[in-house]
Amino acid sequence: MSQNRRPLIAGNWKMNGLKADGLALAGALAERMRAAADPAFDMLVCPPFTLLASVGDALGTSGVALGAQDCHANEKGAHTADISAAMLSDIGCGFVIVGHSERRTDHGEDDEQVQAKAGAAQAGGLTAIICIGETEQERDDGKTFEVVKSQLAGSLPSGADASNTVIAYEPVWAIGTGRTPSNDEVQEVHALIRDGLSQALGADQADAVRILYGGSMKPENAKDLIALADVDGGLIGGASLKAEDFFGIAESC
Ligand code: PEP
Repeated sequence: MSQNRRPLIAGNWKMNGLKADGLALAGALAERMRAAADPAFDMLVCPPFTLLASVGDALGTSGVALGAQDCHANEKGAHTADISAAMLSDIGCGFVIVGHSERRTDHGEDDEQVQAKAGAAQAGGLTAIICIGETEQERDDGKTFEVVKSQLAGSLPSGADASNTVIAYEPVWAIGTGRTPSNDEVQEVHALIRDGLSQALGADQADAVRILYGGSMKPENAKDLIALADVDGGLIGGASLKAEDFFGIAESC
């Protein structure tokens, strides 16, 4: 965490939540955010598409931002079941996650597609949260740096800057497993990412881009992770589904 960058605590609800529980969670977060005198963090939730409108209404003017979990690379057209950045913006989203490892695995998305989606998100006025991270096999093979560097270079669109881009470093083997890299390992990958951003965007922009850590973040480990020099918040899956835990993470900023 650095004075230059305000921490972002982002919840990825994945394919979880029907109307009743989504609204209860959003309502609880909005209430806590309203009660927080001067929060030292930005908070964002990314519910499934079906809940965007109602969760957006429940969040209202609380200051909790709304985001989506994916978007299409095209502006509109014959893409059955897909959702464009303009549609997300129209419904009140300010952010969209692209290239989550579950999209890369379940839908075969590669860096080129992620880059196109991030570019479309940015062109549509959204901040793209671009996810990158190595698999367990890649880490065991000593390829973490190589993989992360190459995913970053391949997924970053040409118009990226600190105002429209957030990077999430999510080791695939840490997602939903309860396992995390050591704090030193997290910091060294985040520093590598910042270095890659510096080469792509210049030092000033790189210094301002928020780099989130994601993978089994919870209230118990958040404080130490967020205190690391190049960790600017978290992308949180499981623990974002309970207001108490999600807010507990935010309060460790
Ligand atoms: C995620 O899916 O982005 C994630 C970090 O999940 P979890 O917090 O459950 O590991």
